[in-house]
Amino acid sequence: MSIQELPSSVEFKTEATQQSVMRGCLGLNGLRKLRSDIQSDVVTAELELAFGIDEGGWSFVKGQLKTELELVCQSCLEGLSHVINSQFQLAVVAEPTQMDTLPDNYEPLELQDGLIDMAQIIKEEILLNLPFAVKHEQAACANKFTESKPTRKAFANLQELLENNNGCTKKS
Ligand SMILES: [Zn+2]
Repeated sequence: MSIQELPSSVEFKTEATQQSVMRGCLGLNGLRKLRSDIQSDVVTAELELAFGIDEGGWSFVKGQLKTELELVCQSCLEGLSHVINSQFQLAVVAEPTQMDTLPDNYEPLELQDGLIDMAQIIKEEILLNLPFAVKHEQAACANKFTESKPTRKAFANLQELLENNNGCTKKS
């Protein structure tokens, strides 16, 4: 069975009223602009989304996100696969005053002309789920000298980084 491609934007009110459930994948691009240690510029996210309106009247979308990114280890500057498997709950906030009463279990969601920009939301979720500093487990890291020679290694890495960035259009 092939995985369905989800729409990149969705009419939120319709889906919430119909309590729609969607499963599929969504292609994301432009991630490297958001964080420099992301190597994969095009990523496919697997999603399960459930729309609805809760008893408090909040229109929500609950989601499960699965994806895998290629990142750069900040210690050895080699590639590192990072799996994200996270859940999120967003509720529509139509005006700023609603922020005060938004229940704690929701993150606020702003609509653009009634539409939910799926790609934007999922990209934000991915960023929220990335560690601040990405590193291999120590045993798997190519940089074995972090403790003893931090300065020299840091310079070696800097040189490597400059070379890699110099006109490099390597596909990830
Ligand atoms: Zn490493």
